[in-house]
Amino acid sequence: MADNRAAILTGAKAAHTLHRDLGIKEQIERSGGGRVDVFGAIAKLGATLMFQPLDKLLGAYLPGDELGVLITTKRPLPVQRFTGAHELGHLYMQHEPSLDDDNILRRAPFSTAGRLNRQEREADAFASMFLTPAWLLALNLERQRWTARGLSDPPHVYQLSLRLGTSYRATCYALERHKVISRDQCVHLVDIEPKEIKQQLLVGYEPPDWRSDVWLLTEHDQGALIEGGRNDLFVVRLRENSGAGYLWNFDQLRDAGFALVHDDREEDNAEAIGGILTRKVTARSEDRVQGQITLQETRPWLADAPLHELLLRYDLRGPESPGMWEPELKRVLQAA
Ligand SMILES: [Zn+2]
Repeated sequence: MADNRAAILTGAKAAHTLHRDLGIKEQIERSGGGRVDVFGAIAKLGATLMFQPLDKLLGAYLPGDELGVLITTKRPLPVQRFTGAHELGHLYMQHEPSLDDDNILRRAPFSTAGRLNRQEREADAFASMFLTPAWLLALNLERQRWTARGLSDPPHVYQLSLRLGTSYRATCYALERHKVISRDQCVHLVDIEPKEIKQQLLVGYEPPDWRSDVWLLTEHDQGALIEGGRNDLFVVRLRENSGAGYLWNFDQLRDAGFALVHDDREEDNAEAIGGILTRKVTARSEDRVQGQITLQETRPWLADAPLHELLLRYDLRGPESPGMWEPELKRVLQAA
């Protein structure tokens, strides 16, 4: 037991040190993103990062002269990222070679129970602390104006998980570990299927499949970088001053290659008198796209300045496809 506790401490401490050495916090604050760049960290430590359609394994760490990390392409981005963080732990702590299967997802990273070799326990604790440190939860909470109490609410936890780039389940456990929610609240939350939360958000629209994620974007996402998957859905919910003749214009979204699949206005009773409605537009990304758009609330018949603007920046290239990690490949090709 004492040994197990020591292994967890070693892993957690290593994650903290690497965050500091790579300036991860500063990088996130600068980019406006919500998640830790785990693949970038692997590359920075000098390992070759490859993605391959592995069947039985989620990932592997191979030390030696040909220092490398291998990650499967057969799983969604949050699983690729978690696997990457686990392998990064092996790499950073200079462990023996490791082949890792689904078990890394099932193990509780901070449990001292069970028989597990020391380096696996260290890598588990490292992965968890590397992806979801307390300061990153706090940063996302602050941006979204969520309170700790609000995080007992499944839709909030799900939206937080999208911004952190971790699975819904892993996010529940991280919130419990940082004592934002209680054990009982965590048990209740993990019992809920993300599909139920997606259905609540997509009233009036049925997607081709329920595997894609559904982002709820509001004025709190102003300027933030949205890092998602190529078929993700976006529910943009904004207050609209239609009584004063203002309308949100979503043409830019369409021009950027998104399909607008649903458009709705909800009447907010308390504010209906002032002519303020909530506009809810659902868009779907059709490709691996990257860019930014500015939505404007304007009076279509007048050439005056927009009443409000919303800048959305997005990178929807996940999950990673087979081959060398793209940014690394570009660097190698440029150097050649
Ligand atoms: Zn391992």
